[in-house]
Amino acid sequence: MNQTLDGIVSLAKQCQCGHRHYDIPIEQIVVSHEAFKRLAAYLQYKRYKKVAVVADARTFAAAGQSLCDELENESIRCKVCFVQPDENGDVIADERAIVQVLLETPDDVDAFIAVGAGTIHDITRFGSYKMKVPFISVPTAPSVDGFTSMGAPLIIRGVKKTIQAQAPIAVFADIEVLRNAPKAMIAAGFGDMLAKYTSLADWQFAHWMMEEPYCPFVHQLTEQSLQTCVDHLDDIADGGEQGIRVVMDALLQSGIAMLLMGQSYPASGAEHHLSHYWEIEFLRQNKRQVLHGAKVGVSTPIIVEHYQRVFWPLLSELEKCRTSMDETIWERLKAHTASIRELLESLPSPERLRSMVERVGGAVAPQQLGIDRWLVERSLKEAHRLRPNRFTMLYCLNECMLIE
Ligand SMILES: [Zn+2]
Ligand SMILES: [Zn+2]
Repeated sequence: MNQTLDGIVSLAKQCQCGHRHYDIPIEQIVVSHEAFKRLAAYLQYKRYKKVAVVADARTFAAAGQSLCDELENESIRCKVCFVQPDENGDVIADERAIVQVLLETPDDVDAFIAVGAGTIHDITRFGSYKMKVPFISVPTAPSVDGFTSMGAPLIIRGVKKTIQAQAPIAVFADIEVLRNAPKAMIAAGFGDMLAKYTSLADWQFAHWMMEEPYCPFVHQLTEQSLQTCVDHLDDIADGGEQGIRVVMDALLQSGIAMLLMGQSYPASGAEHHLSHYWEIEFLRQNKRQVLHGAKVGVSTPIIVEHYQRVFWPLLSELEKCRTSMDETIWERLKAHTASIRELLESLPSPERLRSMVERVGGAVAPQQLGIDRWLVERSLKEAHRLRPNRFTMLYCLNECMLIE
C-alpha cells in the first residue's frame, strides 16, 4: 500500500474529523514473492493447526495447491473445499455455495483461507463468520477492492443482498500468482479503482446535501490509491510486477478506507449502483456473469457523462425547478452550486476515462459486456433505488429534480 497498515491506523487515531473510525481487525497485509511462506509462519504464530481452504478448480490450480503444499510441510492440515460452479460455469456466492462450504468444513478448523477472487472471498467471509472462526484472505487476482471488507454480497433466492459478516484477520497475496491472473481480471481491478472518481464525488455531494458522515482523511486515502493507479497506467497495462503491485496495493488501501469509515460510501457511488442493476438483470435472465470491475469500468464514464449532460444543466437553472422541489434540498443545492460545479469539473472526461480502461485491456462500451442501450437507459433512471438511503447525484436528479 502507499502507506503501511500501521501508519494508516495511527493516522486514523489522530483524525480530527469528528466521526468514529472503526478498528481494523487485519493483523498483517503481505504482498510478496514469499507470501505463502509468510502465511505458514503466521499460522504457526497463531497456533493454528487445521485450516479450511476454500477455492474453485481454477484458483486451486493457480494458488491453492502450492499453498497447501507449503502449509503441509509445516504440519498444518488443510481441508480443501472446491466450490462448484453453477449451470453457466460461474462460481456464485449463493445459498448453494454457502451450504456446500458449511457441509464440507469440519467443526474443528482453526481458520478459513479464501483462495480466489471476490466471489470466493464472499462465500468464505460468510461461511467462516457463521462458524465463528476467523478467515484469511489469499487473493489470486487484483480484481476488486472488497477483499478486506466486512460485508458479503450474497445472492439469495436470486436477489442480491449484502450481509454484514467479517473482515479477514490477514491478507497474503503472492506476486507471481497475481501476475499470472487473467488480464481481464487485472483490468477489472483497475476499473474498480477508476470508479473512485465518481464514488468520491457522490460521497462529497451526499455530505453537503444530507450531512452524511464524511472524513477528509479517508477521502484522501481513497484518492491517493486511485491517483497511484492513474500515474502507473503504463506499468499496469504491461502486466509487470510493478503494475500489479500498484493495483493490488490500491485495492487494499481502498478497502481499508471503507473499513475505517464503517461503510462503503468512499468507494461506491452511482457507478456501482448501475453495475449492481446490470448484475441483477443478468441473474434474472440467467446470463453469464461479468466481472464486477469490468462493469464499473464501463459505468464510471457513463455516470460522468450523465452528470455533465443532465445533472449539471438542471443545477445551473435551479430557479426553474424551485416549485417542484423540496425546499431544504433546493436550499442546499443552491448553497453548494459552485462547489458542485467545481467537483464535476475536476472529474476526467468520459473519453479520458475510457481511454485509460482501454489501455489496460478492459471493455469500454456496455455492448462489449452484453449490456444493451435500453438496459443502460433504464438503469440511469432506476438504479439509485437499489440503495435508497444513499444520496448520490443520480438519486438527487431522479428523485428530487423532476420537472414537468
Ligand atoms: Zn476522520
Ligand atoms: Zn467495487
